[in-house]
Amino acid sequence: EKIRLGIIYGGKSSEHEVSLRTALSIMKAVDMDKYDITPIYVSLDGAWIKGDAMSGLLPESIASLRLTNGENDAEQMSTGLVRSSRAASPFSIGQQVDVFFPVVHGPNGEDGTIQGLLELSNLPYVGTGVMASAVGMDKWMMKTVFAQAGLPQVRYVGLLRSQWEKNRDATMDRIEQELGYPCFVKPVNMGSSVGISKAKNRSELEEALNIAAKFDRRMIVEQFVKARELEIGVLGNEETITSVVGEIVAAKEFYDYEAKYKGAGTELSIPAKVPQHVSEQIAEIAKKAFQALDGSGLSRVDFFWDEEHDKLYINEVNTMPGFTPYSMYPMLFQAAGISYSELIDRLVQLALERHADKQ
Ligand code: ATP
Ligand code: MG
Ligand code: MG
Ligand code: MG
Repeated sequence: EKIRLGIIYGGKSSEHEVSLRTALSIMKAVDMDKYDITPIYVSLDGAWIKGDAMSGLLPESIASLRLTNGENDAEQMSTGLVRSSRAASPFSIGQQVDVFFPVVHGPNGEDGTIQGLLELSNLPYVGTGVMASAVGMDKWMMKTVFAQAGLPQVRYVGLLRSQWEKNRDATMDRIEQELGYPCFVKPVNMGSSVGISKAKNRSELEEALNIAAKFDRRMIVEQFVKARELEIGVLGNEETITSVVGEIVAAKEFYDYEAKYKGAGTELSIPAKVPQHVSEQIAEIAKKAFQALDGSGLSRVDFFWDEEHDKLYINEVNTMPGFTPYSMYPMLFQAAGISYSELIDRLVQLALERHADKQ
């Protein structure tokens, strides 16, 4: 019997378009003999729109789309679906779906909100639960958990926007004292480098804090590390496996939104050319981080490796990483011998197992 798989994508999120591409890739890759797909599009303003059965959608909208040349695809995919679909509530969809795959990145998706909705309806879903999603999305809370788990990370300062607005000079003095330059300023709840800037002096710091404050009421400032960027995939629930280690070689100043999605000069090196002790340590820390968050399903864990001093820092756990066949996470497992469609199969199985475990 076929598994009825509901793919939730889009979302009220700054990573809406990224999500469309991921969803499209999954729909194209799954074995139609094994799955019945229900596309569930969440619009930018938060409306849930259920597509007709995948077979009905294929000819007119999705089948003709290409994976490259992202923006047009993304646009067509949302409008195509809206045309051939009807509004739905997440609860009513539950009866027609065995397991959900929420491929929604960033706030309002990767942060435990959709996961909570599915929990309330007692529906199985791929990926991390409410708490791990929420903690993984919140860079400040995530760092607190990492610190408690004894994982190595860069020095940082957490700030409220209100603190910053009331006391600009004192805030910058504190950052200069505790971290110095360059530093990285980030909104706490975000992904895809949205709202992130590097500051090399006080005026850039001021600008960076103003930018981050537009995205969130909490911000984090980190010490800059001159390091290579290494990433690893984790797959599993309580028992996990890790992928090979990959490296991001960004031609730009840092791995920003443009570099991530417009591919501007960024290369992925898989497997990363690093000594074995580094990849072993990365695998070990990644598993610990996943466990510390009580992860399930998947996560991509990102690291900085200061080659000169052979020092490793964990940067973050992404609980719903980019998931097109050309994204880092699937490619890392591809290199470890697990194909894209097998990866989806495993994630669906893990979702069902986790759901059964909870009962
Ligand atoms: P993702 O899309 O992976 O979820 P994100 O929005 O959560 O990204 P980060 O991974 O924290 O953001 O930072 C984005 C990029 O900025 C990193 O990939 C790296 O290139 C650079 N960067 C971030 N923090 C630092 C740091 N402390 N030192 C050096 N470079 C950094
Ligand atoms: Mg992230
Ligand atoms: Mg992210
Ligand atoms: Mg990152």
